[in-house]
Amino acid sequence: MVTVDTVLLKLASRCNLDCHYCYVYNMGDEGWLAQPKRMSPEVIDSAVAQLSLLASSQDVPFSVVFHGGEPLLIGAERFDVVCAALRGALPPTCGLHLQTNGLLLSDAVLRTCMEHDVGVSISLDGPAAVHDRHRPDRRGAGSHSRVMEAVRRLSEHPAGSRLFTGVLAVVDLASDPGEVYSFLKSTGAPSMDFLYRDGNHDEVPVGKASPLSTEYGDWMCRLLDVYLADRRPVPIRVLDDMLKLLMGGISRKEGVGLDAYGILVVDTDGSVRKNDTLKSAFGAADRFASGWSVTTHDLRQVVASKEFAVYHHAQRPSSPVCLSCPDLRVCGGGMPAHRWRSETGFVNPSVFCADQRLLIDAMRDILSRRMLAA
Ligand code: SF4
Repeated sequence: MVTVDTVLLKLASRCNLDCHYCYVYNMGDEGWLAQPKRMSPEVIDSAVAQLSLLASSQDVPFSVVFHGGEPLLIGAERFDVVCAALRGALPPTCGLHLQTNGLLLSDAVLRTCMEHDVGVSISLDGPAAVHDRHRPDRRGAGSHSRVMEAVRRLSEHPAGSRLFTGVLAVVDLASDPGEVYSFLKSTGAPSMDFLYRDGNHDEVPVGKASPLSTEYGDWMCRLLDVYLADRRPVPIRVLDDMLKLLMGGISRKEGVGLDAYGILVVDTDGSVRKNDTLKSAFGAADRFASGWSVTTHDLRQVVASKEFAVYHHAQRPSSPVCLSCPDLRVCGGGMPAHRWRSETGFVNPSVFCADQRLLIDAMRDILSRRMLAA
């Protein structure tokens, strides 16, 4: 049976920002239109009850990540109800985390996070000129100043150092990686992580001339140089994961390496979904044929089912190119969503293959030079 390590709980299906690169709203999938705007009390009760049963059936705890849309659109009061119910139902080893754009990160929400030990990660792409280029609100106005207000409120909170887990940025190729890194570091965030713009072999990610070009790899190599030259670096999750894998260790999160992560999504209406980034490949790619819901099905049986095992196994690279690749152990073939091509499905290398090879080569080179110098 698959072990679940991450549950994305979609507390709200809408967002108060209109980020140009969002795979939920702006990459062709329209499933969100059929979802209720907020998770109802009935669905919350079912989700909590099912997650409690699932937790007790596993030896290893999972983390629940409050996600959306923008999860805080559920409202501060109902957010408190969800957190209290999960804390009461799950073992203390299960983590609770909030991934938010920050606009609704009020004092009341922070109080809830403090009381129920909820880690907070804020989506922030860099300084205002970078962030506002692709993260406007619904009226087209920049959101940076409001996000920075949330960062300040979180940092200055008495429990801020415990609650603030990091910032999550999407790479903007037009930005300077050193400037982005310095800015994110200046926020006081204890860690940062970077995502590539989503895309696949049919829809090449914004900024890439072709699957063979290396614009994202070039950007990440420049980030790597700045990061390794910093005497007081703030950890960058994706670079640390890749460096650890190169040195024989393991990764912490999906997207690199060969460990398959047990990711389960509960949508706003209670339906059980696959990793939602799959929506960027084609419409409804995140749906299970079985039509499971936490309101009608036992999550332990869902996770033990053949269909769930097939979904879980699909994270493993299957392209012959990847299977004979010397960088497979570090790259892992990339995110399944990034492998998509309509003729061959997911049996392809990542559309970021050339970028990853460039970055891994640069890391290998740096590590071998450092070992020789030691
Ligand atoms: S995507 Fe490219 S770099 Fe990654 S494992 Fe496959 S062939 Fe290797």
